[in-house]
Amino acid sequence: MLDELCAAGSPLGAYEMIDRLAAGTGKRPAPISVYRALDFLVEKGLVHRLASRNAFMACDHGHGAHEPAIFLICDGCGVVSEVTSHAASESLRTVAQSAGFTPRAQVIELAGLCARCCGAEPSAV
Ligand SMILES: [Zn+2]
Ligand SMILES: [Zn+2]
Repeated sequence: MLDELCAAGSPLGAYEMIDRLAAGTGKRPAPISVYRALDFLVEKGLVHRLASRNAFMACDHGHGAHEPAIFLICDGCGVVSEVTSHAASESLRTVAQSAGFTPRAQVIELAGLCARCCGAEPSAV
């Protein structure tokens, strides 16, 4: 399952995942078992769930489930890239703490245009 997501390189919905698994193995897995497997991978921090797209994306950052994942989602070409930021992580922690809130996961989704679609070079970080 993780292989399929990694190979896709872009977010996949649960049903797209089922189609891919079916194409690979000739057997169509039950949606419930696919959802369970995805939940497990999300829990492990190997896969992130993109709420705005109801899709799942493999994470190659090797960070834990409690570290932040910031998704840059391009409205133009649909490319999704993941970045992490310790500064953002600290800010979120501070905000949560002052509200007495214990975060389970930090997932931020930014919609907009990628560098290619803007026709601009990405600025150096
Ligand atoms: Zn990640
Ligand atoms: Zn784009």
